Amino acid sequence: MHPTPLPAFAIEIDALAKTYPASPRMAARQALKGVTLNVPRGQIFGLLGPNGAGKSTLINILAGLVRKTSGTARVWGEDVGLSPRDARGAIGVVPQEINMDPFFTPWESMELQAGFYGLRKAERRTETILKAVGLWDRKDAYVRQLSGGMKRRLMVAKALVHSPPVLVLDEPTAGVDVELRRQLWAYVRELNAQGVTVVLTTHYLEEAQELCDTIAIINHGDLVACQPTAQLLTRVDHRTLQIEPVSPLTEVPRGLAGLDATLKPGGGLAIRFRREAVQIEALLAQVNAAGVGIRDLRIEEPDLEDVFLALTARAA
Ligand code: ADP
Ligand code: MG
Repeated sequence: MHPTPLPAFAIEIDALAKTYPASPRMAARQALKGVTLNVPRGQIFGLLGPNGAGKSTLINILAGLVRKTSGTARVWGEDVGLSPRDARGAIGVVPQEINMDPFFTPWESMELQAGFYGLRKAERRTETILKAVGLWDRKDAYVRQLSGGMKRRLMVAKALVHSPPVLVLDEPTAGVDVELRRQLWAYVRELNAQGVTVVLTTHYLEEAQELCDTIAIINHGDLVACQPTAQLLTRVDHRTLQIEPVSPLTEVPRGLAGLDATLKPGGGLAIRFRREAVQIEALLAQVNAAGVGIRDLRIEEPDLEDVFLALTARAA
């Protein structure tokens, strides 16, 4: 069970670095270059970054599956290098790859997993967890008879057998259909509401934007951002004014040449502007003066995708 008092941070990572040694097929690879970040207790925390950024490496170090090269990582106050057993006991990890023994039923897989953690029969919650992930009616099916979505849910269930205060999901929804994603996130939210700190990586930025309290972005093994989601979104200082003219345009009017204006397929205009520097009123006056009658307009705020692109392009 959880040690008391509760740590301020569910996860503390300090100057964490990992170099995979050279192999006959691959040169040595510096996957993490000294990452420092804290995951506040009780949050849903997003770890984002392009393919190969080092996300799985970081998660696998926390899970005790990959040895760090230098730096420190603590899970629930326990150093993964110095107290690996205690650190592992505080975290449940759903790995990126589905790896399950095809010869066991969900019930058996869960009981085996409980055995790995040394849980006595009375401490096991196999039934509760399988019900929570909607696999109770499949408890005696063979894993090979389960759909991809059911296997994912079984992976989540297995990560929860020892009631860890921290749950980490590495790309849990990659290649998973919309309905299952919705179910999975609903369950993640429920766990979080019960006090579980959740760390997840995902390629779906919209999802991260909607779910995560804090988002960290890593790129080429470096941390490039770590902020509350709302704050992170203000880092991109542009908005886009979308204009539907009274009559469709065939080119950007000459009077707007000084602006970042582009012609849209339907004959509309998109004008990007810096929210700090430009008054909407002045912008609209300029559009009017250029002879464009406005039928309709809307202003688009930047989303996580814009932030992500801006931050990961810079260091590419
Ligand atoms: P992500 O999960 O963000 O896609 P990874 O942590 O899987 O990134 O990989 C980071 C970098 O480390 C990549 O360049 C990858 O090729 C390399 N890498 C990952 N695992 C290994 C390994 N076992 N041996 C050698 N290189 C690896
Ligand atoms: Mg990965």
